Amino acid sequence: MKLLPVILILLAQMAVAQNLNYARSLIDTLAAPGMHGRGYVAEGDKIAAQFLSAEFEKLRLLPLAKNYKQTYTFPMNTLPGKLEAFANGERLQAGSDFQVWAATPDMKGTYKVVTLTPQILSDAKKLKKFSSRDYSNKFVLIDKKGIEDKKALSILDSLKYYNFLKAPGLIYISETKLTGSVMIGFKVRNYTVIDLKREALPKKLKDFTLEVESEFVPQHKTSNVMGYVKGLVQPDTFLVFTAHYDHLGRMGSEVYYPGANDNASGTAMVTDLARHYSQPENQPYYSIAFILLSGEEAGLMGAKYCAAYPPVDLKKVKFLVNLDMVGTGSEGITMVNATKFRDEYDRMVKINADNEYILTVKERGESCNSDHCPFYQKGVPAVFIYSLGKEFTEYHNPDDQSSKLPLSEYNDIFRLMRDFMDGFGEKSE
Ligand SMILES: [Zn+2]
Repeated sequence: MKLLPVILILLAQMAVAQNLNYARSLIDTLAAPGMHGRGYVAEGDKIAAQFLSAEFEKLRLLPLAKNYKQTYTFPMNTLPGKLEAFANGERLQAGSDFQVWAATPDMKGTYKVVTLTPQILSDAKKLKKFSSRDYSNKFVLIDKKGIEDKKALSILDSLKYYNFLKAPGLIYISETKLTGSVMIGFKVRNYTVIDLKREALPKKLKDFTLEVESEFVPQHKTSNVMGYVKGLVQPDTFLVFTAHYDHLGRMGSEVYYPGANDNASGTAMVTDLARHYSQPENQPYYSIAFILLSGEEAGLMGAKYCAAYPPVDLKKVKFLVNLDMVGTGSEGITMVNATKFRDEYDRMVKINADNEYILTVKERGESCNSDHCPFYQKGVPAVFIYSLGKEFTEYHNPDDQSSKLPLSEYNDIFRLMRDFMDGFGEKSE
C-alpha cells in the first residue's frame, strides 16, 4: 500500500505540469510573430481573437456574445510599412536604438538637427529667441540630462504634445531601454516624436534621416472575447475574470512587440481557469464569466466598451478579478483596490498563508491602470492582480518574449485565484 501515495503524488504532479504546459503553449502562440504583437498591423488582434474564441469553443464555454465576440471600433494610427532612420548617415536599429510615436505621419527626408540646450531653457530671453526661429524643416533634439528645474522639464514634456516650435520632428534622448506605447495613436499628427537611446546618439548629431509609412484607420474593428461556465447553485450571479489579450502590435514591418508577459500571461491564466471550471467536477457555485479584452494598450478601450455594453447585468456581478502581467511571482503579487475591498483582500491573504502559495499578497489602493477600472467605475467590486519579481523586467519592448518569460509562480498564482473565487460559493453555503 506504500505505492499508493507515490502514485497520487505523481498524478498530482502530472496534472500540474499539464496546467503549466497549457498556459505556456497559449503564451507561445499569442507571442509568436504570426500574431504580429496582437495589435493594429496585419490584423494581429483579429487573429488573436479568432484563436482565443476557438479555444473557448474547444472548452465548450457558453458564449456571452455571438461566436464569443463582442465587436466594436476605435480610431488608430498604424505603422505597417517601411521604418528607417539614420543619425549622421549611420543606420539605427528600430525598437532598440530608436522608436517613433504612434501618431507619426508619413515622412521621408533628411533634416538638420538643432539642440535645445539646458542653457537656452533656463534663460527666458534665450528661449524666446530660440522659439521665434523657423523649424519647419528641422528636427529639434531634446536632452533632459542634468535639467532639474521643474518648469523647464514641464516645458519639454508639453512640447511633445503641443509642438509650439512647429518642427516636423522632436528627438528625445532616452537613458533607459525604450518602451513603446499606442496611447497617442487615436489620431495622426503632422510631426513625429522620436525616442533615441543615449548609446545611439553620435557626439554631434547634425542630421537625421527618417522614412516611415503610416496608415490611419478611422474605425479599427476589434473584439472582446467572452464566455462563461454556468453556476451549479446560483447561475444568475456572476464572478468574472478579465485579462487583456491585445498588445502594441508592429512598429514598421521589421519590429513587433510579442507581449508575452503583457498580457499573454494573464490571457493564458484566464483561459486556463476557464479550462479548469469547464470540467464537470469543478462546476462553480456561481456562474463564472471569462472575458478577454482588446484595446487595453490604446486606453482600456475594450474594458470601457464592455462596461458600457455589458454581456451580463453588472448588478449581478459579485466580484471581478483582472489579471495583467502575471508571468513572474518570486516576490509575490499585488492587489490593486485592496484598500477598497478589505474583506476580500484579507481572505486572499489568508488563503495564501494557509496554503503557502506565494511569498506575499501586497495591498495597493485605487489606480485606474488596467481593465478592472471601467468596471469598478460602474460599481462592480473589482480588483487587479499583477505579479512581482525581478526575474523578468522586459516591458513594452521587443524582448517581452515567451522563451524568456519564467512563469516562476504560475501554478501557485493560479491556485490562489481558483481558491479565492471558490471561496465566494463556500461562504454562501
Ligand atoms: Zn501594457
